[in-house]
Amino acid sequence: PDALPPLSGLKTAHLDWRRDDGGEEAPYSTVFDDVYFSRHDGRAETEHVFINANRLPERLAAWQGPRPFVIGETGFGTGLNMLCAWTCFDAHAPSQARLHLISTEKFPLARDDLARALAAWPDLAERAARLVEQWPEPVAGVHRLWLDDRVTLDLHFGDTTERLRLLDGRVDAWFLDGFAPSKNPEMWHPELFAAMAARSRPDATLATFTCAGVVKRGLKAAGFAWRKVPGFGRKREMLAGEIAEPPADHRRAPTPWFTPPAPRPARHVIVVGAGIAGTSTAAALARRGVTVTLVDREGPGSGASGNAQGALYVKLAADTNSQSRVYLAGLLHSHRWLEALDPQWTLWQPCGVLQLAMSEKEQARQARFLAHHPLPEGVVRGVSADEASRLAGTPIDHGGLDYPRAGWVRPAALCRRLAATPGIEFRQAEGVGLTPVDGGWSLDLAYGERLAADQVVIATAMLANRFDQTASLPLQPVRGQVSRLALPEGAPVLDRVVCAGGYVSPALDEGLTFGATFAPNQAETDMRKADHAANLAELEATLPAYVADLRDAGAELDPARLDGRAAVRAASPDKSPYAGPVPDAEAWQTDYALLAKDATRVPEVPGCHHGGLWISTGHGSRGLASAPLCAELIASMICDEPMPLEQPLVDHLHPGRRIIRDMVRGLLSGQM
Ligand code: SAM
Repeated sequence: PDALPPLSGLKTAHLDWRRDDGGEEAPYSTVFDDVYFSRHDGRAETEHVFINANRLPERLAAWQGPRPFVIGETGFGTGLNMLCAWTCFDAHAPSQARLHLISTEKFPLARDDLARALAAWPDLAERAARLVEQWPEPVAGVHRLWLDDRVTLDLHFGDTTERLRLLDGRVDAWFLDGFAPSKNPEMWHPELFAAMAARSRPDATLATFTCAGVVKRGLKAAGFAWRKVPGFGRKREMLAGEIAEPPADHRRAPTPWFTPPAPRPARHVIVVGAGIAGTSTAAALARRGVTVTLVDREGPGSGASGNAQGALYVKLAADTNSQSRVYLAGLLHSHRWLEALDPQWTLWQPCGVLQLAMSEKEQARQARFLAHHPLPEGVVRGVSADEASRLAGTPIDHGGLDYPRAGWVRPAALCRRLAATPGIEFRQAEGVGLTPVDGGWSLDLAYGERLAADQVVIATAMLANRFDQTASLPLQPVRGQVSRLALPEGAPVLDRVVCAGGYVSPALDEGLTFGATFAPNQAETDMRKADHAANLAELEATLPAYVADLRDAGAELDPARLDGRAAVRAASPDKSPYAGPVPDAEAWQTDYALLAKDATRVPEVPGCHHGGLWISTGHGSRGLASAPLCAELIASMICDEPMPLEQPLVDHLHPGRRIIRDMVRGLLSGQM
């Protein structure tokens, strides 16, 4: 797979607002010396060039699914084309159809510019508002937005060619946009067309406003057939066409085990486990029209996701690695997803999280992180002790990193809310065995009953490897106990989640939650005074002034008087979650046995999977950041949709990665 480019922020677009022919204000790029659209006839141009030349009205009217129709665009700009495609979909597509929009953008507009540009189209105002609300920070990567129940938009921020190479998904219709080749020659090079061809469905069409020779030659060389058709307005000609022969996608040739299983019917899916991983997966499937039976031996949010309050935060590595990328993507995703699910903030609070640097080593690590990761201040920034104190509302002795979009969540309440999503039926039962039957699965329940479904997702944390099919998946239990202190009246207020060794959240329901202990290989859930004492000691070391104020206010900081909760999280050996199809471990051991002798001899055998069986586990203590994104990933795989992450990150999460690693260990160390 392509190496991922550095994790970084992007420059936002430099706009000028110029009067167009009709005397109306329109956005203009000073960098490319070109217009985004004509205010006078921009809508009609979009309809002519992109919508009609791709025959969208008739294709959408005839779309039967069950997967969504996928449109791919180069250069999102103001989003006008995509909003028009959404409008066309609503006007023509049958009610059960879904639309998936993918667009690349290297210079995202600032949010205010986006809103100002789209204000030109009053009849698109509601759609524009959905887009502006969810508009992501300018961070390179994939950002998934929910435009409505049936329409999803993935913004792939970064250079078009680079992003299409990293795209894990295929497209039905291409909008080949971007500033004119004469003004933006860098974008229109042969690799762009090759990347588009490799991501095209067999009947994919394309349309572009330009007839430039470089475009005609590039498309042809990549395998597209095109013809000249009348252009819009004063432009005499444009190009419309289709893929003649979609080239084979060889990107997984070096790692054939990650080749995804062929899509299967997914009318009814069982999700086993109703913690954050299971409930978010169930909700992601239900949103796609899949009937879901959610099974848990207790209720929704009863295991490690059962705490009343938990921190939504991540710890990013000083040097970029795949795990950090997944967690950053997960944090941004969780924020956007929670905002869409609960705009009133009843289930969560994006109050921000401070990660203090309490030692010289941690200071050096954070400095290195900031130097290597020029991310927008809205995502993460370095703060002094003074600033940290101001943000948290209490004196703090150390500076650190501030994550303004992070915060806290009520995990148990969130799980209950998700489990109540229409289309999900909850069953209190314990799943103990799985048998493949008639192209689907049968789940054995503890007292002899069975449930059948087309597919099954296992999301039972530590119990995820209790099934024969998952038994070889290495998982480690990690016991964690949080403490809860009843706050007396007049207790000092904390405005941000503060973390160092542990974390403490702002008060909720007159209680202060802090912790948690981290005890690998312990699976007991009894509450321990010693753990409360350890949490208290950590809290006092992190925020001594705050603790002194608590004491002054009369808080009972006595381990024997604290309340709390202990639970067991599941961790993988490499500490990244497992999210994806369940490998047939025995088949892998046979198919890839050669790797044990010579890791450079990669057999050309695609990974054999237990078809229709999926897993989401190993979220450790960061499930609030990782599980909702993994839920989208799995739902997208089940429903044959484009992935919400770059292909190398999809592979990084693959539940089979350890099998290969173990096989080549000693020969290819550190490669997986
Ligand atoms: N489709 C847009 C719309 O509906 O508003 C208009 C697109 S505008 C004419 C061209 C866009 O392509 C700009 O937003 C520009 O930043 C983007 N762009 C230019 N070069 C790019 C590249 N190499 N990679 C990604 N985006 C690029």
